[in-house]
Amino acid sequence: MSGAQPHPRRALRADLLDFTGDPGMGAPSFGAVRHRADHWLLIEHGRIAAVQPGAQVPGSEWLCEDYRGQLLIPGLIDTHVHSVQLDVIASYGAELLDWLERFTFPAEARHADAVHAQGQAEAFADALLAHGTTSAVVFPSVHATSVNALFDAAQRRGMRLITGKVLMDRHAPEGLRDDVPQALAQCEALIARWHGTGRLAYAVTPRFAASSTPEQLAMAGALLQRHRSVYMQTHVAENRAEVAWIAELFPEARSYLDVYHRAGLLNERAVLAHGIWLDDADRALLADSGAQIAHSPSSNLFLGSGLFDWQAMSDAKAAVSLASDVGGGTSLSMLRTMADAYRVQALRGVRLSAFKALHTATLGAAQALHLDHEIGSLEPGRAADVTVWDWATGAVARGRDALARDLHERLFAWMMLGDERNLVTTLVAGRTQYKRRNDDSGASETADDANARRAAAA
Ligand SMILES: [Zn+2]
Repeated sequence: MSGAQPHPRRALRADLLDFTGDPGMGAPSFGAVRHRADHWLLIEHGRIAAVQPGAQVPGSEWLCEDYRGQLLIPGLIDTHVHSVQLDVIASYGAELLDWLERFTFPAEARHADAVHAQGQAEAFADALLAHGTTSAVVFPSVHATSVNALFDAAQRRGMRLITGKVLMDRHAPEGLRDDVPQALAQCEALIARWHGTGRLAYAVTPRFAASSTPEQLAMAGALLQRHRSVYMQTHVAENRAEVAWIAELFPEARSYLDVYHRAGLLNERAVLAHGIWLDDADRALLADSGAQIAHSPSSNLFLGSGLFDWQAMSDAKAAVSLASDVGGGTSLSMLRTMADAYRVQALRGVRLSAFKALHTATLGAAQALHLDHEIGSLEPGRAADVTVWDWATGAVARGRDALARDLHERLFAWMMLGDERNLVTTLVAGRTQYKRRNDDSGASETADDANARRAAAA
């Protein structure tokens, strides 16, 4: 069930947009933006081969596909999302710690069952692709079954996925707790099986400082020492009650972030979600270590966690990527995530340009993950992870699009008014992994359809 062999040479004609650098915070800066209206993107054996003007039609050895008037960008990168929380998306009336107890932990406990875990992993991978996300850093559950199911689902779709077993040996219900020796053995086995297999990478994944004993955090640090190319993902400073609890649990630490620093968890492959309640010393530590904050604005607004200080991170030269954080976030759409990031910054009196937002969800995230040689741009040699979008769907958005005076205005309206209904197709390593059924109907291929298509193609 590996999908049809794609045509070895595909050519897509569209408005190509990607970035050659960081547009920066503040007013829209066109310097780092590469916009090639009506161009061909040539894809050979799953990689981007070349770009050429629309008038220069490729020869008959190329399978040509015409998306004229539509927007083609690199596949989007979601740096923090929970595959096991689709069931609890949009759960009413709780802040972080209460939300974990009431909604999240019961949903995650069901992933001990391999059949449930597999079904959910398949649905999750298809859902990412149907939202234009081709690479993700993902939290599954504490169970090895959920990790295996997720890696397996990603591998069959050729996706660039980073995940690892959640570590949690305290302050979690029965059935969701591991212990240090068991967790260590499982991590070693999962790293041996999956890390570096195809496009997959392992992440050592302590849920957060409250749910791991100091001994388990030390074990996680030792794993990172032993396996230098694996990633680390966790949560930090999301919510004020959480921050106060961490201070009680780790009185010796200078700050919440310092708990991870002391355990040896901060390095250039560390992805920490949220980072709302940080101070300047924390941001300097992030910049020094190369660790990134996965800013999750939809989740932060939904759970009332707080307003992320992106400008201070930028001033400290600390890396920021963008994340949906579903199920705390209410949509897998990175367009909605970008729109929420704009709103969060607006509440802080800061303007986030569409260029900066889209850069962060493509090249910026790729660089923060040290994967920009593979993903995040339309540079020849990169994997052909690309998405094609309608600039606008529906009468209101179309009217707004028609009035846009420059590229930034147009892209900003796309980001604020668009969502997964704008997505036309998603290619992963040159293969079509999602295609919208009918223009403008909003209808899309379901997971069942996708499975049937894959089964037929295999
Ligand atoms: Zn999260």
